Amino acid sequence: MKEIILLKDGEIVLKGLNRRTFEDVLKKNIRHAISHLGSFEIKSAQSIIYVKPLSDDIDLDEACLKISRVFGIVSYSRAAICEEKTLESIIATAPVYLEKELKAVKTFKVEARRSDKRFPYKSPEICAELGGVILDKFPHLSVDVHNPDLIVNVEVRDFGAYVHGAAHKGAGGIPVGTSGNAAILISGGIDSPVAAYMMAKRGLKLTAVHFASPPYTSKRAEDKVVRLLRRVSRYAGKMTMYTVPFTKIQKTIKNECPEELFTIIMRRLMMQISSRIAADNDCTALITGESLGQVASQTIGALSCTDDVADLLVFRPLIGMDKQEIIDISYKIDTYDISIEPYEDCCTVFTPKHPRTRPVLKYVKEAQEKANFEPMIEEALANLKVTEISAKDE
Ligand code: ATP
Ligand code: MG
Repeated sequence: MKEIILLKDGEIVLKGLNRRTFEDVLKKNIRHAISHLGSFEIKSAQSIIYVKPLSDDIDLDEACLKISRVFGIVSYSRAAICEEKTLESIIATAPVYLEKELKAVKTFKVEARRSDKRFPYKSPEICAELGGVILDKFPHLSVDVHNPDLIVNVEVRDFGAYVHGAAHKGAGGIPVGTSGNAAILISGGIDSPVAAYMMAKRGLKLTAVHFASPPYTSKRAEDKVVRLLRRVSRYAGKMTMYTVPFTKIQKTIKNECPEELFTIIMRRLMMQISSRIAADNDCTALITGESLGQVASQTIGALSCTDDVADLLVFRPLIGMDKQEIIDISYKIDTYDISIEPYEDCCTVFTPKHPRTRPVLKYVKEAQEKANFEPMIEEALANLKVTEISAKDE
């Protein structure tokens, strides 16, 4: 029996004239997510995207898993393709395709959708005919229209008639790339991979910026970030990661700035350098994993001091979330186990004993201006390490 994956696109429906563009991007993203599994025909009509395998040996479970992580999809179902678009063919297909499920439950109902209005039977007629045949073939079953164990879905669409069981929830959001590009400041922690996931969900294509301070931070700490980004790219698609050599700047901060302002000045330099990398990569926003009040550098005062030097809009999708809520998402996207591996981050090098929680911008600026960071910023930007990230390398 030939199968297909049917997807419902979500908010795209709301986008009016832009809908075609959105659907084109979504189809491209779907193709990118599954093309390594074999050849597929991918086409759309009336808010449904049809993903049809072009050979019999394709692993459709794996294809469904990859599709479940593509933003812009509300739900997806793996379905049988009826040989013909006729009631007879639907009746011949459904009890065979769903035999295992039908044997495992006690109650069912048939739901039919007929978007091809030329089909000679109306939805209630399809339900009645197919329901009767199923009851004959599986005498242990009864119909429950309110709370059935199994819904047998029949879809009569432009390209054919399809039968499937339960639909699965998709990743939601809008297709990556339809909102533009942004640079995520990524550490090896729990928060920034979650922030990256959340903004990719709103359609942003990501570029990653990571600050490393060897020998205070190790090669393994950097590898950890690469592995985290590969997990994120299951949802966000491929991306480029820039590793910024940050040792000299951090040492200068330590030697030339007041201790209680170390962190805030470091974060300002991160923002300045990230803004430059972002601009060079057509990114029009920055993303961080900050959450209000979580640590001293994430108070309103400290965030205002860091925002001051960002040339771009800064998205902080976790700003109003509790740590546990962030952790719950990191479990869901499978980044938690990697995030808790105990490698150092450059933020934990030279941390002050008593950081200022209410820094005054004027003094922070003065303290920063005492050291001449500009040539060091240029040097760091001239020595970026570039790593291409793809979920396929996992
Ligand atoms: P995370 O769990 O993301 O590390 P955190 O709660 O530990 O966040 P901080 O270490 O203060 O908080 O970092 C705040 C934000 O600054 C991070 O979410 C991230 O966006 C950015 N950041 C921190 N360290 C780095 C780094 N080494 N490279 C790039 N960005 C960083
Ligand atoms: Mg951190």
